[in-house]
Amino acid sequence: FYGTPKNPDAHTVTQVLPPQLMRSPLCGRTRLGHFEGVATVVTKLLNLVRPNRAYFGRKDAQQLAILQQLVRDLNLGVEIVPCPIVREASGLALSSRNQYLNVGERQAAAVIYRSLQRAEALFRTGVLNSRDLITAVFAELASEPLVQPEYVELVHPQTLVPLETITEAGLLAIAAQVGSTRLIDNMILRTRRPIIAIDGPAGAGKSTVARQVAQQLDLLYLDTGAMYRAITWLMLHTGTDLQDEPAVAELVSQSQIRLTAVPTDGTASFPMPCQVWINGQDVTQVIRTEAVTSNVSAIAAQPSVRQALVQQQQHYGRNGGIVIDGRDIGTHVFPDAELKLFLTASVHERARRRQQDLKNQGQAVQSLEQIEQAIHRRDYQDSTRAIAPLRKAPDAIEIQTDALSADEVVAQIVALYQQMMGG
Ligand code: C5P
Repeated sequence: FYGTPKNPDAHTVTQVLPPQLMRSPLCGRTRLGHFEGVATVVTKLLNLVRPNRAYFGRKDAQQLAILQQLVRDLNLGVEIVPCPIVREASGLALSSRNQYLNVGERQAAAVIYRSLQRAEALFRTGVLNSRDLITAVFAELASEPLVQPEYVELVHPQTLVPLETITEAGLLAIAAQVGSTRLIDNMILRTRRPIIAIDGPAGAGKSTVARQVAQQLDLLYLDTGAMYRAITWLMLHTGTDLQDEPAVAELVSQSQIRLTAVPTDGTASFPMPCQVWINGQDVTQVIRTEAVTSNVSAIAAQPSVRQALVQQQQHYGRNGGIVIDGRDIGTHVFPDAELKLFLTASVHERARRRQQDLKNQGQAVQSLEQIEQAIHRRDYQDSTRAIAPLRKAPDAIEIQTDALSADEVVAQIVALYQQMMGG
């Protein structure tokens, strides 16, 4: 299985050896030689297939961390994409091994996830030290005599070094024997609140959806397109030449963009930035005009503009707890966002929606063909520019929205978020 040849004299015998510190804790203690085998066979597989990306589940967190390290160390040029843990309704993580459990054992095995949830609840009250968190897990596991813990450990999610206390993130990992079956499970505990990154082409419904998702999940909302639009408006307003890079850089460095909350009914319990200001001027309405829309993509491609705005966006989301939409959020602004979505729709459908919006706003309505052409042009400009072009991040979940209402897309994202958060 591990690729060891039957006749070692007749073959090159190589074993890929992951760092001692990564293969010895957690499952390495009892599964001797396992991670050497995994590293060797995965290296051989990647050499055979030469994929751009390889997907690995987060349930095998030690394997994932070791393979990410291996790909870096051996310059394998493949992107390792982590996939979320999928669970049964009881919380039991899906595994081929679950088939070996009898009915009673299967019921009992749900305690593993419950114990992680108990530690998570404690963590949310501000308990960050490993001793208390691990004690909470053991206490819950003890309620099921059929489940015999092998280990409960808190380690750094990437280096697997044991943690005494969580500063940013900790991997709380369990192995337990349930009857004759050995099961593993884990949860990453993060001090930062999650970031939801929503990218996609113009008119796919990102901002409508992002706003509602933020509202339902009580997160902040940041519309990065509005920031690029505000700069574009200022350039048009001041007559700055788009080709004059130093002048553009100067203008950007002197501009202050603010997004402020406008509680619609006076009861909003969170700051929801809806009003857009640049250098003290309210530009909420004017950034939606045709003049701005048709120029924004060219201006958003300017290096100085991107650099300044990306920095502001990262600052805004540094503590997490935010839904942020744009073109490069999952790929560049927050590549470590907990949940990444890529919303798409056909050009025809996007043009139809845009036309409907114009009608609803009582604005002059262009023909569908005209709107389609404008959308094509922006798609092209946004996805072919040199810096941070519009791309789906490899670990983003794509939602094709042609046949979906905004409410349906919102419901899907909220469900994905809750699944990710273990709720
Ligand atoms: O989403 P919206 O249509 O308001 O975005 C306007 C333009 O701003 C986009 O077409 C794109 O050129 C630019 N943009 C960007 N990066 C982002 C968000 C928007 O380049 N993160």
